[in-house]
Amino acid sequence: MSKVEFNMGNIEKCICKTCPVQAESACVKQKKMKTQEMMESKMMPDAEMVPGVYCATGKASCGDLDVSKMCQCNECPLWEECDLISGQPMGYYCRDGQAE
Ligand code: SF4
Ligand code: SF4
Repeated sequence: MSKVEFNMGNIEKCICKTCPVQAESACVKQKKMKTQEMMESKMMPDAEMVPGVYCATGKASCGDLDVSKMCQCNECPLWEECDLISGQPMGYYCRDGQAE
């Protein structure tokens, strides 16, 4: 497994933005809007502001996620690119922390 970098390209690739685990979170919605605004102005947001790329940055700062829903990480382009299946944990990085 290779370490996932926290960068603009990977924020764009991350599919946490459409994950059902985060879909009902008011906290995530707010962060998503701010992140989008910053990205549009080509500014790099801080890790704790981005509701995604948890495989790189660790557990979510939002506490209102619904982890009874299915994680989508195995459909993300970074899953194969970084061989995340060989690391730990295997998905649910928002709950269980970064991939190692
Ligand atoms: S593997 Fe999961 S947490 Fe990591 S970038 Fe992809 S969707 Fe986001
Ligand atoms: S890490 Fe997995 S469970 Fe968490 S938001 Fe991203 S896709 Fe969903």
